[in-house]
Amino acid sequence: MYFYKKKVVTDKKKLCGLTAAEIFELIEPWGYSLSHAVAITNSLYKVKASGIAGISKIPKALKEKLSLEFEMGVDKPVRCEKSADGAIKYLFQSDSGLEFETVYIPDGKRNTVCVSAQSGCRMGCSFCATASYGFRGNLSAGEILSQVIGIPEAGRITHVVFMGMGEPLDNYDNVLKSCEIINSEWGKAISRRNVTVSTVGLLIGIEKFLNNSQCNLTLSLHSPFPEERKQFVPVEKFYPSGEIIRLMKEYPRVKKRRFSLAYVMIDGVNDSDEHLQALRELITGSEIRINLLPYHPTEKGGYKSSSPEKMNYFKHNLMISGISASVRKSRGSDISAACGLLASSLKR
Ligand code: SF4
Repeated sequence: MYFYKKKVVTDKKKLCGLTAAEIFELIEPWGYSLSHAVAITNSLYKVKASGIAGISKIPKALKEKLSLEFEMGVDKPVRCEKSADGAIKYLFQSDSGLEFETVYIPDGKRNTVCVSAQSGCRMGCSFCATASYGFRGNLSAGEILSQVIGIPEAGRITHVVFMGMGEPLDNYDNVLKSCEIINSEWGKAISRRNVTVSTVGLLIGIEKFLNNSQCNLTLSLHSPFPEERKQFVPVEKFYPSGEIIRLMKEYPRVKKRRFSLAYVMIDGVNDSDEHLQALRELITGSEIRINLLPYHPTEKGGYKSSSPEKMNYFKHNLMISGISASVRKSRGSDISAACGLLASSLKR
């Protein structure tokens, strides 16, 4: 485990988390233009300028004026743990002391960062370590973005997934704003096709998200049977997954936007032939994909992952039914870094 420098908290306002339009609103009364605002966001989100003095293409007088009230405000991780397979888990701490985790997952040309939207979570999914950590608070857009631009590998990131701590649609406004900044040319400029928001199914948030963002959406399903799903994912009681899948099927498709189901496979629990058949019936004929994920045991114990053979059996049978299915590799299991199952055992 590596430790970084102790976090220094100042009382200055933060630029990180602001859109180009918001920065323009700040500097317009001082006589500066939208192109100055875009120069600031480019330096902040793309170039990783270390401070306001390092922002390029803006006048010195603007830097001086900004510096009086603002700082860049990109949080850096306070700790990190590296897996034998190359995945790296970072621990961040907000100014108010909230802790949250991020996982960087290199895989050939594809480098994914798995970000948290909240510190802890209040959804209470039975198999998830974050649920036992409890809910500590929502992360601001700046704190979410810091997980993408504040890690040492920021320049190599190609994909962003909201599958870390928390339910992203329970922190809708900050997640949507982060997606806008990650996608925008004036921001991090990562294509919306490479950004995925994963939810356990807050229907109201899903409807808003589909209408206001072009990013991909994943529903964490884990059982095709509503009664069984309620035991894993209590939110099923209020927002039935059948409703959400119907919405995903009927929603007008925008080119290359992906809708998928995440299915964490647990040995002897949700990997029977009956589950396979019900999964098939649920999405045959649609363009919804299925990602089959290995289960990462938590400290509570109790469950173990389905075998690789069983996972490939599911994949094969789904594919011959015309369903796009994939088996996700287990990454970072030695550092408790499974996406969607980030351990709350924030090892100190
Ligand atoms: S699986 Fe996701 S939504 Fe459910 S408790 Fe864990 S972090 Fe929250």
